[in-house]
Amino acid sequence: MEMIGHGGKEIIERVMSKDAALKRVAELKAAKVKTLDVRLQMATEIIDIAYGFFSPLEGFMTKADVESVCNNMLLADGKTVWSIPIIYDISSEDLEKSGIKQYDEVLLTYTGNPFAIFDITDIFTLDKKEVAMKVYGTTEEKHPGAKRTYQYQDKFLGGKITLLNPPKINEPFTRFWLTPKQMRERFKEKGWEMIINHQTRNVPHTGHEWLMKGAYLGAYGSMMVDKPRGGILVNAMIGSKRPGDYIDEAIILCQEAQGKHGYFREDIFLTTCTLWDMRYAGPKEAIFHACLRTNLGCTHHMFGRDHAGVGTYYDPYDAHRIFERLPKGSLNITPIFNLDWWFCPVCDEVTYMGLCGHKDKKASFSGTLIRSIIQDGVKPPRRIFRPEVFDMIMECAEKYGFGNAFVTEDYLKRRNPVFTIEPLK
Ligand SMILES: [Zn+2]
Repeated sequence: MEMIGHGGKEIIERVMSKDAALKRVAELKAAKVKTLDVRLQMATEIIDIAYGFFSPLEGFMTKADVESVCNNMLLADGKTVWSIPIIYDISSEDLEKSGIKQYDEVLLTYTGNPFAIFDITDIFTLDKKEVAMKVYGTTEEKHPGAKRTYQYQDKFLGGKITLLNPPKINEPFTRFWLTPKQMRERFKEKGWEMIINHQTRNVPHTGHEWLMKGAYLGAYGSMMVDKPRGGILVNAMIGSKRPGDYIDEAIILCQEAQGKHGYFREDIFLTTCTLWDMRYAGPKEAIFHACLRTNLGCTHHMFGRDHAGVGTYYDPYDAHRIFERLPKGSLNITPIFNLDWWFCPVCDEVTYMGLCGHKDKKASFSGTLIRSIIQDGVKPPRRIFRPEVFDMIMECAEKYGFGNAFVTEDYLKRRNPVFTIEPLK
């Protein structure tokens, strides 16, 4: 099966077998190599790097890569499109205390257990304000991506990563987490030659359902009846949450419910998740999503209104326009641009900005409206929420959300982690 990812290169997989890892850890310990314990964000990105979600990246970026990404939206090779820096930070103090030098091999641990090897080739500093401006288009701390940039420590380490100890993905995410290689195997089993990715961090209302249906018709309209050769991949971004977001468990289980209950044929629909802390970088994040989903084996990617945006930092269609500015052939995935879908009481259906002529009568699926429907817990009309999806939201609120379908401080404190790193033995 073809395993070519973003940038036209073979999908990266830097994961050691268990026997090799046990041996290597014993050697590293005997040699008393330096050790760093990583926080959740770094652990997440190490997993993504090691399994090729970020192909062709093989590790954390060097200064040359970060500068090239910020200035030219390219890796330091000068030709591979990349829009968001993937960086490993450390404080000057910790760096000094650790005694880590360029070209050191470092053992990374997570929650105290052996996790990965980090071959450090670059130690550098960055102007964080400049990075925020170039990636997010703002230096304001209330932009969550800029804020995250400022929260990095003052030194950065670049170099290749090798995973020693694969993550244990916890319930209910276990069956939804597939590596790029596993994802491609699954597509092959399903006989899919074309795959439309739907990026989400939402539980689906019928507006989302129709976005996907519209994209399916747009991309596969000429497909013959005999055998579906294409499908829709719902790939939920699971990562750091902000109060008021949907809880991860509800997102993934409600997306799956659309296939289970026939709103999409099961042979054309697959729900999965990928570990990633949203940066809300709008257009830049749209490009990043395109690269990531190329690595998952997708041929098409949906971009809706205000894709990966936040507040009023980006024009709702900036994330569409940025693709037009890329040189031809720099991405290996076809963007599908979605305009607004709404409910029209005159057409009496969920319809599309490009079709319905009753714009002034439309009822938009506003976040506030949907949120109040869910908080009231009274089952809405099936034209707005499929009853099975709505039941699943309520079930998840009880089972995982401590009574709430939205993230609360309580949830952030008490939730079960999405993955754990167990002792290596
Ligand atoms: Zn209408």
